Amino acid sequence: MALVREKDGKRLHVKSNLMGESLVSKEFIDQLDIAPQERLYPDVKLMKIGGQSICDRGAKALPQVLKEIVRNRADHKMVLTTGGGTRSRHIYTIGLEMGMPTGVIAKFGSMVSEQNALMIATLLSPWGGVQISHSDIVKLPTYFAENIIPVMHGMPPYDYFAIKPKVGRIPIHRTDVGLVILADLVGSKTVLFIKDENGLYTEDPKKNPDAAFIAEIGAQDLLDNGQDDLVIERPCLEIIQNSEVLDKVQIVNGLVPGNITRALNGEHVGTFIYKQ
Ligand code: ADP
Ligand code: MG
Repeated sequence: MALVREKDGKRLHVKSNLMGESLVSKEFIDQLDIAPQERLYPDVKLMKIGGQSICDRGAKALPQVLKEIVRNRADHKMVLTTGGGTRSRHIYTIGLEMGMPTGVIAKFGSMVSEQNALMIATLLSPWGGVQISHSDIVKLPTYFAENIIPVMHGMPPYDYFAIKPKVGRIPIHRTDVGLVILADLVGSKTVLFIKDENGLYTEDPKKNPDAAFIAEIGAQDLLDNGQDDLVIERPCLEIIQNSEVLDKVQIVNGLVPGNITRALNGEHVGTFIYKQ
């Protein structure tokens, strides 16, 4: 980038490709030559512990999932994020009934997800569990040097700035989206959604037990096939598809002992949704 002096000789400008551009022109963005995105921490394993699917089952599921994570502590650098689950659905229902805007509903979601992060970090504290905030992500190397398992709430921090969806006021960027955005930031090769079903099916298996299991599928194909219900929030698919660094995300059933370990070791358990 060159420095240019104005004709009157008084002011210096940094000449750049973006100078004088609105950054809105599609044609301009398409032809802009940029460096490939760096993968900040490709070997870090990012995992979301489901809110409704795992956390809310309490003693019936959470200790077993956390024990399996702790058993993997020596072999993997892991970052945990948390969903909100049933309590966020409860406050969403009341908030919507009381006319709350999307931004307030999103803030409720962050607060509940944060409760779960505090609980999981507390449960993990004998094994290095530490609750971190979103701005601490850049400190990951320090945490891993100290054998810490960072735990962060999973709602993307749009909060009051959450965008109203086309229909209704439930924010579309919730804790599944938070994990995928984080994965794009970090450049992780392993991105695990720990839930209570074996992965993605053609329909919600809780509503239709005959739904067919999908072991792997491209994010674009899944967007295009018009499936009504999904195991992860729909905007995740577009984020995966647009990412420069994400290869795939994986959905595993954390209620089956051994699944998390197998997934951490690169095995194809559950469903892969990959970037096409
Ligand atoms: P979390 O607790 O991680 O937020 P959710 O409960 O929101 O997870 O989402 C996982 C649930 O999505 C599954 O337990 C399942 O009942 C439901 N689901 C809906 N559609 C599908 C689908 N096509 N395939 C698999 N699960 C689905
Ligand atoms: Mg969910």
